[in-house]
Amino acid sequence: MKLPSTGIPQDEILARLDAYRKEDVDWRSGRVWGYVYDAGVEAQKACEAAFADFLWENALDPTVFPSMLKLENDLVSMVAQHLNAPEGAVGNFTSGGTESIFLAVLAARENFRRKKGTDAIPEIVLPETAHAAHQKAAYYYHMKAVIVPIDPVTFKADVAAMRAAITENTCLLVGSATSYAHGVVDPIEELGQLALEHDLRLHVDGCIGGWLLPWFERLGANVPLHDFQVPGVSSMSCDLHKYGFAPKGASIIVHRDKSMRQQHMYACATWSGYTLVNNAVQSSKSGGPMAAAWAALHFMGDEGYLELARRMRQATLQIIEGIDALDGLRVLGRPEMNLIAIASDDPGVNIFHVADEMNLRGWYVQPQLSYGASPANIHLSVNPKSQPHVPSLLADFAASVEAARKLPSSQIAPMLKDAFATIDPADFDDKMLDQMLGMAGMSGVALPKRMAEINEVMDVIPTAFREKLLTTFVNELFQFER
Ligand SMILES: *Cc1c(COP(=O)(O)O)cnc(C)c1O
Repeated sequence: MKLPSTGIPQDEILARLDAYRKEDVDWRSGRVWGYVYDAGVEAQKACEAAFADFLWENALDPTVFPSMLKLENDLVSMVAQHLNAPEGAVGNFTSGGTESIFLAVLAARENFRRKKGTDAIPEIVLPETAHAAHQKAAYYYHMKAVIVPIDPVTFKADVAAMRAAITENTCLLVGSATSYAHGVVDPIEELGQLALEHDLRLHVDGCIGGWLLPWFERLGANVPLHDFQVPGVSSMSCDLHKYGFAPKGASIIVHRDKSMRQQHMYACATWSGYTLVNNAVQSSKSGGPMAAAWAALHFMGDEGYLELARRMRQATLQIIEGIDALDGLRVLGRPEMNLIAIASDDPGVNIFHVADEMNLRGWYVQPQLSYGASPANIHLSVNPKSQPHVPSLLADFAASVEAARKLPSSQIAPMLKDAFATIDPADFDDKMLDQMLGMAGMSGVALPKRMAEINEVMDVIPTAFREKLLTTFVNELFQFER
C-alpha cells in the first residue's frame, strides 16, 4: 500500500475500511463461541459513545488529566469490592488480561529479588491449565515457569503436586477462577493455605471468571471461594473486556496491599525527557477504553449483569445436558461458569473433524489441542445471545459427529509423530518446517477450509515444534505489500 498523495474524504475512508471486514467472522450472529463478548446493541452503543468521547485524552499523566485518574479509581473501586478485596487493597486499569498478569508476576519477582538478590532465577508454580500469559510473563521477565499436572477428572489444580513443585526459588503460585479451557475454579482456599505456609505470593487469575462468577453464584451455581476472602490470595486479575462486556483494552489488576503494588510500578529518571512514571506497562494511553469500561459497568449495573448471567447460565446448562446425552461426545470436567470443553472418547470420532463440520454448518467453534491431562477438544464460550441457538447447535453437533465418523484420520500425523520423536528442536530448520507445512496442506499462509489435518499434526508433534510452527506461520503472515 502506498500513502495516498492527497487526503481522502471521511465517507470513502469508512467505506474502504468496511470492505476490509467482509471475510471476518460474523460475531453479531450469535453463532460465534469466542472472541467477542456481546451484551447487545444498546450496551455497545453506550460503550462506543463513551469510547469516542474520551478517545483523545491521554492517561500518561494523571495530574494533567485528572479525569483519567478518577475513571481509573472508580473502575478499580467497583472491581475490588466485587472481588471482596479488603481495606487497604489497591489496583490499576490495564489493557487486558496479559498486562494484568504481567504486573502480578513482576511484583512477585521483585519481592523475590528483595529477599534473595538477583542471582537466582525465580520460579512460578502453575497448573497446566493456567493461562499461557503467565508463561509469557516468565519468558519476558527471565523467570522459570514450573508447569504442574492437574486432576484429570475435575481439570482443577492438584494441590499436592503444586506443593511438591515448590523449591527455594519459588516466588509465586497461580490458580484460576475460572480456567479458560475448562471453565472450572481451582481449589483456591487450599492454594491460599499453601502460599501462606511457604510465604509465597498467590495470584488468582480471574481474567475470564472474576467478574462473572459472583452473579453465577447468586443464580445458584456452586461456586467455590476464590477471591480475596481467601487469606493467602495476594493479587487478582479481572478482565472487563470479557464478561464485563466492555470493548477490548480493559482489565483490572488488584493487589491485596499497596506495598505489593509498589513492586509493579516503574519510574525512570535517567534520561533527558519528561519525568516518567507508569502504574502499568503502557505509557501514552488513550482514555477511550477506560471510559468505555466505565460506561459498560454503569449501563448494565448489578441487575443488568444478573440478567445476562441468567441467560448464559441457562444456555450453558442446556448445552452440557445436550452433549452429555449425545453419543460420541463428552464435556470435560464440570464447568462452574459458562465455558465448555467438548471432547470425544470414541476412536471413530475425530474431534477436529467435528470442529470442521460445525464450521461448515455456520458456527464458529474453537479447537483446543491436547495438553497434559486434557484431550483435544472444542471450546465454547457462551454469550448472552447464544441461548436461542442452543437447540440448533446441539442438532448440528449430532450431525457433525455422524459426518466425522465417515471422514478418514490423517495419514501423515502418525508418521510425523514418529519422525519428530527423534529430532531435537534445536536442529529443526526452516526448510524442514516448510516441508512439514506442505505435507499438512499448508502452503504459504493460505489456510484450507478444513483444518483437521493441520490440527491433527499439531496435536501429535512435541510442544516445542508446535510453538516453532506457530511463530514461523505468524512470521510469514505479517508481511506487507509494496
Ligand atoms: C483471556 C484470558 C487471559 C488473557 O487475557 P488477554 O485479555 O487476552 O490478554 C488470561 N487468563 C484467562 C483465564 C483468560 O481467559
